[in-house]
Amino acid sequence: MVKSKLHIDPLKGWTNQSDFPLIISGPCSAESEIQVMETARKLAKIPEVKIFRAGIWKPRTRPGSFEGVGVKGLKWLQKVKQETNLLTAVEVASQKHVEEALKHQVDILWIGARTVVNPFSIQELASSVEGVDIPIMIKNPVNPDLSLWIGAIERFHMAGIKRIAAVHRGFYLFDKSPYRNAPMWEIPIELKRQIPGLPIICDPSHIGGERELLPEIAQKALDLEMDGLMLEVHPNPDDALTDPQQQIKPNELSQLLKSLVIRRETGNTEFQGKLDELRSEIDKIDAELIQILTNRMQLVDEIGNYKKDNNITILQLKRWSNIVKDRLARGVRSGINKDFLQKLLEIVHTESIRRQTDIYNKNSEE
Ligand code: PEP
Ligand code: MN
Repeated sequence: MVKSKLHIDPLKGWTNQSDFPLIISGPCSAESEIQVMETARKLAKIPEVKIFRAGIWKPRTRPGSFEGVGVKGLKWLQKVKQETNLLTAVEVASQKHVEEALKHQVDILWIGARTVVNPFSIQELASSVEGVDIPIMIKNPVNPDLSLWIGAIERFHMAGIKRIAAVHRGFYLFDKSPYRNAPMWEIPIELKRQIPGLPIICDPSHIGGERELLPEIAQKALDLEMDGLMLEVHPNPDDALTDPQQQIKPNELSQLLKSLVIRRETGNTEFQGKLDELRSEIDKIDAELIQILTNRMQLVDEIGNYKKDNNITILQLKRWSNIVKDRLARGVRSGINKDFLQKLLEIVHTESIRRQTDIYNKNSEE
């Protein structure tokens, strides 16, 4: 996959500080002026928090549940700006939302996961911010579709927005336990590989869906070099009108932030030397791994030809289940995770069958 040439500004330009990680926090929904102000005042006392988030228009799965306080909540956010040094951020899903948010001097807009799935909505939103100098955070689409996520980023970029951050909030999967939305870390990693300068902010609240899961998700995000965290905070989480199980109190956020280990990308030269040495070992082992896979596939082809010549079916179930049993036992003895090894064996097996099927088809075409 080619790397994109999008020019995206670093997060530094958002707050005029080079804070790492950038912490965005606030309630899932603005519910009342008292709740918003209480949360903002407490968050303003946590030095790491730089941006106050609050949902004003809430995208709900079923109608009739709390759908947000609407425009009056924007006035409360203006008050947050006046009283604290926090920047404000809201979710927008239509041109009307954008207009209202801009009218009320919201500092940052974000696009929710349910909106990013729809390129029509994204195009409408991108057009509505054309010529406006405002940072935009783009959540991943609900479904694990990296192109859709990149497409949304490109549409805003084409509209002239240069301060863009992606927000990783996990993906809806049928079997996702223990998470509310499966993190599928490989997707934001690939996003970063394809758009190298793009800041990525992790949203552990919507990934976890449960308070207990927040610290490990947040730490993992930092270990994967994500640039910031968005965490939902509410003065009385259990009474929150939306997402009660995943919200924490401001003082719990403060503790969580203190517990995070911030590892720098590069350390001192001695550390860097050791790291380079270990990495070059990994490079060698990967080269060997590829050579071993090549040898294995050549044998698979040979067996495929032999089976074909002797009219034997490609899939020999008994042999395959013996292989799995034997390899798993070996792997477990040497400390490899069983699920991981099982998945790896399955991938190798699927590829072997694909190659042998090719051999069968090619021979029969001749
Ligand atoms: C939110 O941030 O409160 C929200 C609705 O998130 P998402 O779009 O990720 O579901
Ligand atoms: Mn929420």
